[in-house]
Amino acid sequence: MSTADQVAKRRTFAIISHPDAGKTTLTEKLLLFGGAIQLAGTVKGRKAARHATSDWMAMEQQRGISVTTSVMQFPYAERIMNLLDTPGHEDFSEDTYRTLTAVDSALMVIDAARGVEPRTIKLMEVTRLRTTPICTFINKLDRDGRPPLELLDEIEDILKIRCAPITWPIGMGRQFRGVYHLLEDKVHLYHGEDNEAGGKEETIAGLDDPRLAEIAGQDLDTLREEVELVQAAGHGFDLDEYRAGRLTPVFFGSAINNFGLQSLLDAFVEWAPPPQPREAQSRAVEPGEDKLAGFVFKIQANMDPQHRDRIAFLRLCSGRYTKGMKMRHLRAGKEIRVNDAITFMANRRGAAEDAWAGDIIGIHNHGTIAIGDCFSEGEDLRFSGIPNFAPELFQRVVLRDPLKAKALNKGVDQLCEEGATQVFRPLHNNDVILGAVGVLQFDVVAERLRTEYGVSATFEAIDVYTARWIYADDERELKRFADRNTPGVARDHGGALVYLAASRVKLDLTQERWPDIRFESVREQY
Ligand code: GDP
Repeated sequence: MSTADQVAKRRTFAIISHPDAGKTTLTEKLLLFGGAIQLAGTVKGRKAARHATSDWMAMEQQRGISVTTSVMQFPYAERIMNLLDTPGHEDFSEDTYRTLTAVDSALMVIDAARGVEPRTIKLMEVTRLRTTPICTFINKLDRDGRPPLELLDEIEDILKIRCAPITWPIGMGRQFRGVYHLLEDKVHLYHGEDNEAGGKEETIAGLDDPRLAEIAGQDLDTLREEVELVQAAGHGFDLDEYRAGRLTPVFFGSAINNFGLQSLLDAFVEWAPPPQPREAQSRAVEPGEDKLAGFVFKIQANMDPQHRDRIAFLRLCSGRYTKGMKMRHLRAGKEIRVNDAITFMANRRGAAEDAWAGDIIGIHNHGTIAIGDCFSEGEDLRFSGIPNFAPELFQRVVLRDPLKAKALNKGVDQLCEEGATQVFRPLHNNDVILGAVGVLQFDVVAERLRTEYGVSATFEAIDVYTARWIYADDERELKRFADRNTPGVARDHGGALVYLAASRVKLDLTQERWPDIRFESVREQY
């Protein structure tokens, strides 16, 4: 098969949702539908294990599991799907954000009773950094939820994306009868819990089938009215608008009952974009090019923490990986031969024989690879768009043994390169401030500092609300700003200047007072 055909088959995506909307359930069902078995254990087991921090840490130590479930490759309808997991619960971290920079599209799950929730909003913001097409699944129609029209309004209002309903629910909760497929003009009937995963849903033709009147009863009038309304006033589906991230096709169903997923998946594999060109600093890299190129978006501790063996997740942007090939680690300026890259099949972890653009391969790494690093077959390519996000939580490191300052700094720098945390060093003192977007990140850092660097440290709360990277066209202005705001100005791991604001109000005031300074909440990797 040609490289172009290999690329065209691939769909690399993530599922985004607020916790409890049904991401895990949907993931399982997708794997079932794709025929990648052995999963009830995988996904569920992992979830059960992450309820308590200590459990999560213990599980991290059986590292293999979490590595394999971070990326799941499975076949579906002659396509190769690469599903990248974005942790949504307590272990929510910057990994989640960065993973979204490595996908070509996303599936958004919304709980029909809860509508748009805070984490959904945050994740949508991140997908907007690159125009990531979004497909929407409104879940849990088997329970009473909010009126579908109201849900669409809310998505349009809050998430600022137009909705094009593809299926429309008939009743909900105990009265849930099925969905009407607007493009096919067919009704898919809901039979409760006995829908078989991957089994065909029973359909009847059109809205005028007498059977529908029997089944839907008085809900049929509501259905007719709503369908008329969305067809007249709503947005029709438009592939270009979807691919440009301005419109989302919307499907209704019940993940746990395997209902509505067939329509979702069938459309998703058709419409979701195959691997897209990627911007590097010098040029755009096309997925169909012969030579391999890719970037690291995640680093995860692996089997043996004693040996600092970690897996770097490399998203291929072009070319082909073959076992034993040589590639160049551009930041280190070194050529490496890769014999033992890992691919991530949903049901097994195996040695990668070959991989193409859109695929993720795992490379063993002994601390030399950092997030954002690029690999190629020689050309100096630096992919942009692997960002640092302003942390939302800040803690000051308190060393138990002051003589360990050097080890602390080394450990913290290394953990920064892996993306486990962000470090800020104030200009006016020797504090070490760590930033994170998920509280669990601090626990992981403390644990790893202890076990891997022999540093016993605790963290204490500090008065920082958020961080902004600061830039100015005139360097002197930046210096003036730093001088006047010393207590709040720090350097990050890469030496860039950061303003640490004590409160939202303080940030607003400072921004007003310094109009020539740009305050950025996202910064690209070095
Ligand atoms: P996640 O936190 O987004 O991964 O959500 P889960 O997939 O774990 O689902 C959260 C809860 O909602 C679980 O108890 C699921 O069994 C339940 N759930 C998921 N899908 C459905 C559905 O279609 N209907 C109903 N009633 N419950 C569901």
